[in-house]
Amino acid sequence: MYDVAEVLGRLDDIRSWQEDLYRHLHAHPELSRQEHATAALVARDLRERGYEVLEHVGGTGVVGVLENGPGRTVLVRADMDALPVREATGLDYASTVTAVDATGATVPVMHACGHDVHVSCLLSAARLLAAARSAWSGTFVALFQPDEELVGGAQAMIDDGLAAAVPRPDVALAQHVLPLPAGTVWTRPGPVLSSADTVRVTLTGRGAHGSMPQDAVDPVVLAAAVVLRLQTLVSRETSPHDFACLTVGRLAAGSAANIIPELAELEISVRTYEAEVRRRLLDGLERVVTAECRASDAPTPPRFEYSAHCRATVNDPRVTAIVAEAFGAHFGAAASELERQTASEDFAVIADGLGAPYTYWGLGGIDPGLYGRASVARRLTTDVPVLHSPHFAPVIRPTLATGTEAIVVATLACLRGG
Ligand SMILES: [Zn+2]
Ligand SMILES: [Zn+2]
Repeated sequence: MYDVAEVLGRLDDIRSWQEDLYRHLHAHPELSRQEHATAALVARDLRERGYEVLEHVGGTGVVGVLENGPGRTVLVRADMDALPVREATGLDYASTVTAVDATGATVPVMHACGHDVHVSCLLSAARLLAAARSAWSGTFVALFQPDEELVGGAQAMIDDGLAAAVPRPDVALAQHVLPLPAGTVWTRPGPVLSSADTVRVTLTGRGAHGSMPQDAVDPVVLAAAVVLRLQTLVSRETSPHDFACLTVGRLAAGSAANIIPELAELEISVRTYEAEVRRRLLDGLERVVTAECRASDAPTPPRFEYSAHCRATVNDPRVTAIVAEAFGAHFGAAASELERQTASEDFAVIADGLGAPYTYWGLGGIDPGLYGRASVARRLTTDVPVLHSPHFAPVIRPTLATGTEAIVVATLACLRGG
């Protein structure tokens, strides 16, 4: 029972299907909340393999449930959406797709975050598990989530009644392809991805002719002071032992050189691992902005709008130990400990919403030769394209096989219960 070799024995049989599937998904990316064709393809394949399939969960979400005798329940999640990025990989299966985004603009679309890898690997693992039912017992849930990039899809699936619609998982699992050597897998107990908050700040000044600053409250100068002072929240108010990242990613004001405008707008991203550090940063942000407005004698207090809160991803130590041990046994030296990542994810919303302890691991996707040369030359940051880059191009071999093996190995270990 729980025979990894028996389940993976069929991997060679599906390899060409799997690689064609990946190239098809890569060439046909869909924006967040528009994953209609991807979802339909996934649902059809799961149904053909004997899964009970739920569609349109939280928009375009798809869940396949395979009950296979008594035992535990393991859920594995893959995200399906792509990004508004113009692909520049030069691959013969590169995307040339454009789509209309939520604002009505036509944008290029690319799987620049590797979610096509995630879908291909999970659908492949779902096939293998369905084809080798005598090798395991329990319930396998394959969940395909929409809208990860705008961090809305996980919450949408929970809000749409996911918990009542699927068996309660004992464990939830997810993986993400990363700019690390292909063929490797990476686990980490505890915090692995940061929380993220987006704060929009509106500063109100008093407009005037550019030659008459004495009659104005200049929101451009005010915004400049705010941007610099906010950096001291990390450098002077956060312990060097704690992780915190504060980025003013958007700063907008004014329309012409000779006009002092009325307003300035800032959009700020705040990332942490610890709830207490997050609280202090957000409180500090309001304090600094409010004080700078008073220092400038602004006529109106600043306005703060909070959106897109994404909780930290904190891997359960026990589940992570089970998966790490199974990876060690299967992959040997190709299984290592992952460094904490500063990016954010909404997978934890699904796991928490279903009451399941979880672990989220990394999957290498970069040509090992390229990675090795860049590493020796200390040029990793310049020579290895990262996630969301128009050059991000995971290699098909062995990435897809490794990602599929990782799901099967972790799933069987968690079904067995360690
Ligand atoms: Zn992404
Ligand atoms: Zn991603």
